[in-house]
Amino acid sequence: MSNTNDKPTVLIVGAGLGGLMLGALLEKQGIPYTIFERATTVKPLGSGMAVGPTLLPVFQQLGIYDAFIPLGKRIVLTPFYKESLESYRPTDHIAIEEFTGYSQYLVARPDLYDLILKQVPAHKIHFGKRVLNITEEDNKVTVYTNDNGMHVGDIVVGADGAYSAVRQRMYDRLKARGELPKGDQEDLPFSCTCLVGQTRALDPVKYPIIKEDTCVFPTVLGKDKPFSWSIMLTAQGSFAWCVIHHLNEQTSKAAMEQRFRNNDNAEWGAYPAQVMCDETRNFPIPLGEGLSTLGDLYDLAQKDLISKVMLEEKVFQTWYSGRVVLLGDACHKLHPSGGHEYQTERLPAVQVSFKNSQLMSKFMEKSFIGAIILFLITHMPMWLWRLARHRYPDHLTK
Ligand SMILES: Cc1cc2nc3c(=O)[nH]c(=O)nc-3n(C[C@H](O)[C@H](O)[C@H](O)COP(=O)(O)OP(=O)(O)OC[C@H]3O[C@@H](n4cnc5c(N)ncnc54)[C@H](O)[C@@H]3O)c2cc1C
Repeated sequence: MSNTNDKPTVLIVGAGLGGLMLGALLEKQGIPYTIFERATTVKPLGSGMAVGPTLLPVFQQLGIYDAFIPLGKRIVLTPFYKESLESYRPTDHIAIEEFTGYSQYLVARPDLYDLILKQVPAHKIHFGKRVLNITEEDNKVTVYTNDNGMHVGDIVVGADGAYSAVRQRMYDRLKARGELPKGDQEDLPFSCTCLVGQTRALDPVKYPIIKEDTCVFPTVLGKDKPFSWSIMLTAQGSFAWCVIHHLNEQTSKAAMEQRFRNNDNAEWGAYPAQVMCDETRNFPIPLGEGLSTLGDLYDLAQKDLISKVMLEEKVFQTWYSGRVVLLGDACHKLHPSGGHEYQTERLPAVQVSFKNSQLMSKFMEKSFIGAIILFLITHMPMWLWRLARHRYPDHLTK
């Protein structure tokens, strides 16, 4: 062990929600750790995220549940709309509360990020340090950063997102030894691009809808266009949005080429975000007076906090090797409409989430299977919905 009290020293790569959450848990346990993050500053990026029965018990154990609740807006109904703004029957979340004892809350990603960031003492996070390489020797593991830094520990956790450098280094070594499964050698497929952002806090006199005491969370399914768009009311009186462009083989190839042309491995690029804003600004939204198109929301947001992301979907088979282990999007990247380590314990749950998120993304796109799922969701009687929740809790509480 690299420290004196027999506890392993953990080096965490990436201060996204996954890396920070691990930091918060290790902090609570008194296990030494350091986090390395390539970004120099944290930008309040992203849309809204649903937090519910999977995460809330962990928040209770961390002692942050009471601080979290006022940040979130309880989700009771999630209505779906046709592009004509005719609504389908809304999905009722009360059954989740009845079944798990926890509500679901919509929270703006920057607020969730800030809350978890506060659980980690500032001196334990090193911003502006990109991890370039990792070596293992003499029961130690060393992380090399872009500022010629060398950091020795006992375990490295790759919490560095979908394009994980930690995973890449681990897989290069396993591949050279002929030990990397074929599926893990293939690129991450991606099926959608997604535009996320949030308006500033709105004036309740001008926009009375923000006075609603539960989350207003409509999703509109495009009619003749491969788009769906969700809008979420936050507890701070802003609207977050997530616009999804469902790609086919051709458009997916074009998006990938554009990404390489822009050298856009940052994933949250401003230029492509502007193009997607222009493309989608006339899409209708059911929020009433003054908020009738997505463009109305874009105009109420700070432009440089709107971002566009490629949405990959893949569960990797190999999550660890030697003293290196992966966490979060680095080993399982899901569609945001699905949402969700260790391997023996978590892989089955992640695989369920993965299938679930694939179903959800199918239903949002224009496909035959999507039409069937939409029909089931909007016509299923409540008693059957409750029964399904008891029979398939993992599918329904993520
Ligand atoms: C800015 C941002 C906005 C997001 N917005 C949304 C949203 O609106 N809705 C949604 O559903 N999901 C969103 N996500 C994704 C969501 O947060 C993640 O899917 C989920 O929280 C899992 O997070 P993660 O920590 O595994 O990975 P990530 O959130 O991707 O975090 C990975 C972190 O690792 C850092 N990193 C990468 N490579 C290196 C390296 N070599 N060295 C050091 N650090 C490195 C990255 O800068 C990043 O901070 C967003 C992610 C980010 C980063």
